[in-house]
Amino acid sequence: MQAEEIIMIVREDTLKHQGMRKKLVEAIREKGIDDQAVLSAMQNVPRHLFLDKAFLVQAYTDQAFRIGAGQTISQPYTVAYQSSLLHVSKGDKVLEIGTGSGYQTCILLEMGAKVFSIERQKELHDKAKVLLPALGYSPKLFYGDGFKGLPAYGPFDRIIVTCGAPYIPEDLLKQLKIGGIMVIPVGEGEVQVMTTILKIAEGNYEKHELKNFRFVPMLEDKEWGKG
Ligand code: SAH
Repeated sequence: MQAEEIIMIVREDTLKHQGMRKKLVEAIREKGIDDQAVLSAMQNVPRHLFLDKAFLVQAYTDQAFRIGAGQTISQPYTVAYQSSLLHVSKGDKVLEIGTGSGYQTCILLEMGAKVFSIERQKELHDKAKVLLPALGYSPKLFYGDGFKGLPAYGPFDRIIVTCGAPYIPEDLLKQLKIGGIMVIPVGEGEVQVMTTILKIAEGNYEKHELKNFRFVPMLEDKEWGKG
């Protein structure tokens, strides 16, 4: 994307868009999300700028949508649900697995978190690296393998996995602070169970299994460096 094109896109967050967002936020509230910090963040992040111009209506409908490289931007309700389970406080260091479009990253930044986000698709990583700063956001974005996390930057107050994990990666548990929370959809098939993990002490975790969701899979065994 050219810088000029991005500036043009950035200018296109009009009152009309904000009105569409307000309706989406209302719909999400009606579905049971009452965390005001999450709802305000969703009102502030212009979701349509994460999709191609032609998909304005889809951007403000509560559904997942394709973003290229065979991946999707999560459904707004799912983003809201995971974000509220995370109980982010201002200044928290948050590790996100699966940058994708960068939308969830921006929601966390709006909530006052310092976000470190990993993506395994080079194309999506590169796009987010240009788009997010153009929208005024400053996350730390990494092209790499989410199963490994970011040992050099941890431990983290919060970890959010936005792809369907076949199991809970040991490296991520290690990189969670004591007292920290991880939110991760777990399941090998089509359906994953949203799971929260509270780290009580090294090797001691409290786990809760919540509702079912469908995520794109968290993938392993990539030949790094080949895009
Ligand atoms: N948070 C994103 C959701 C994107 S979908 C958003 O708001 O748009 C999940 C993303 O996880 C996909 O982009 C996929 O490429 C990525 N992913 C899958 N396996 C991964 C892994 N092992 N490490 C890092 N990212 C991974």
